[in-house]
Amino acid sequence: LLTSVLLMFLNRMYEEENELAKQQKKEIEELNRAENHFFSSMSHEIRTPINSIIGLNEIILRGDISDEVAENARNIQGASKMLLTLINDILDLSKIKSGKMEIVNVSYETGKLLSEIVNMIWIKAKEKGLDFRLHVDPSIPSMLCGDEVRIKQVLINLLNNAVKYTGEGSVTLSIRCERMGLNRVRVWYSVEDTGQGVKKENIPYIFNAFRRVDEEKNRHIEGTGLGLSIVQQLVQLMGGEISVNSVYTKGSTFIVMLEQDIIDNEELGTFTLDS
Ligand code: ADP
Repeated sequence: LLTSVLLMFLNRMYEEENELAKQQKKEIEELNRAENHFFSSMSHEIRTPINSIIGLNEIILRGDISDEVAENARNIQGASKMLLTLINDILDLSKIKSGKMEIVNVSYETGKLLSEIVNMIWIKAKEKGLDFRLHVDPSIPSMLCGDEVRIKQVLINLLNNAVKYTGEGSVTLSIRCERMGLNRVRVWYSVEDTGQGVKKENIPYIFNAFRRVDEEKNRHIEGTGLGLSIVQQLVQLMGGEISVNSVYTKGSTFIVMLEQDIIDNEELGTFTLDS
């Protein structure tokens, strides 16, 4: 009798605990839903007026204005664009967190995607007096399948960081590929810089959202600490891997590996900055 009473008691305790855990899980889910809803609706509400500010400012800048007004308008432009980046990043992050970020794989021309990325970056590198280098494996297929928009977002983010955190020297984008059969290829996208690098003890934190490391040194560099978190999660959503090698004061290399389907087996051939 004692055993069965004890068993009943234990069973009851287990059921109550289970019920409590279920209730807590539900509450957490509800909180997450409310948080995601808040972020996405807030982001949409803020994006519209910022876009108006940017648009109106462009009109002012195109007009016949004094140097002083032009300088102020440019400052407004810079601040608004920074705010827009922040809002877009928050929106992306909340989409990822709520499982609403969809990876849309399409066929795309490898050369075209590379040109678009390079055109956005080399000017920024040049403005800072940095060399921009590009090494593309000529055997990469000319047409691949993947989420063109997200691959571009990942690489632009890493390249922007490379330019931002490099005082002198170079930024290099290298693309290497390995065939995995007739229709599939493993592609390594590597972004290397000769910049400030990350201290060994800080490396585990750089992919955390809102986390900036070496704050003292980077105070003058614009950033929100969201970029790498988004990059890492996008790469994971695309089924890929990301890794980093960094030597403090010497430079960093971020490597993204994606497995992609081949759409056209023809090789891209030599791809240079002028292509
Ligand atoms: P943000 O650049 O907006 O601060 P990120 O999430 O892109 O945010 O990066 C997080 C942190 O990682 C940065 O604040 C910086 O300290 C470090 N970091 C990122 N990329 C580099 C790089 N290429 N070289 C040195 N440090 C970097």
